[in-house]
Amino acid sequence: MKATDYTVIRSRRRSLELRLYPDSRIEVRVPLRASAREVEDFIASKSAWLQSRLKGQQQRPPQMPLQYCQGEEHLFLGQRYPLSLSRAARPTTALQQGSLCMLNPQPDNPERIAHQLDRWYRQQADGVFNQLIDRHFPFFAIRGHSRPQLRVRSMKSRWGSLSSLGYINLNLELIKTPLHSIEYVVIHELCHLEHMNHGPGFRALMSQCLPDWRDRKRELNEVLLR
Ligand SMILES: [Zn+2]
Repeated sequence: MKATDYTVIRSRRRSLELRLYPDSRIEVRVPLRASAREVEDFIASKSAWLQSRLKGQQQRPPQMPLQYCQGEEHLFLGQRYPLSLSRAARPTTALQQGSLCMLNPQPDNPERIAHQLDRWYRQQADGVFNQLIDRHFPFFAIRGHSRPQLRVRSMKSRWGSLSSLGYINLNLELIKTPLHSIEYVVIHELCHLEHMNHGPGFRALMSQCLPDWRDRKRELNEVLLR
């Protein structure tokens, strides 16, 4: 692979990490002092994985921009639901009989529908994510941690993060993935209460909380959000 094919980002970190974005952009995140040779060797060691992932990306059908029109399918908790749009004075959104039913004063206006759907996703995300945090936090409370406060955010390159200021940030897009995937991300971030890295201690704690976390992680890495 040519050096021009990827971007190297140096930061205060211990390990090297390769990130492949949905637009096929490749980033290598490396410690400040990593040598060019180390970076090249790392990339070389990942090349088989990278080639297969890039091939997978190219095989996906090109994505059309969302239209927010009657019958268009949208994801919620890993399932696809067609939009059922009707006119009404007050905007309302609800899942009914396998459809995402939306009432709006202007059902033919894609911008209105997009905005209303985004609000609904955020409400759902807030409820579902908080429920999962509540379900799994007691284990961490016993270990002396305080419950982080949820912030639902739109993030480009990560599913979640835990801030030292007491926030658990979760990507809004997670609400489109299956519940067991969201649960994996929630537990991953809660484990950061105890370990701020992804070292052996972190992985042991993950296995204690969620024995099949590696399978869930793999599945989430391959999830399609459309
Ligand atoms: Zn992490």
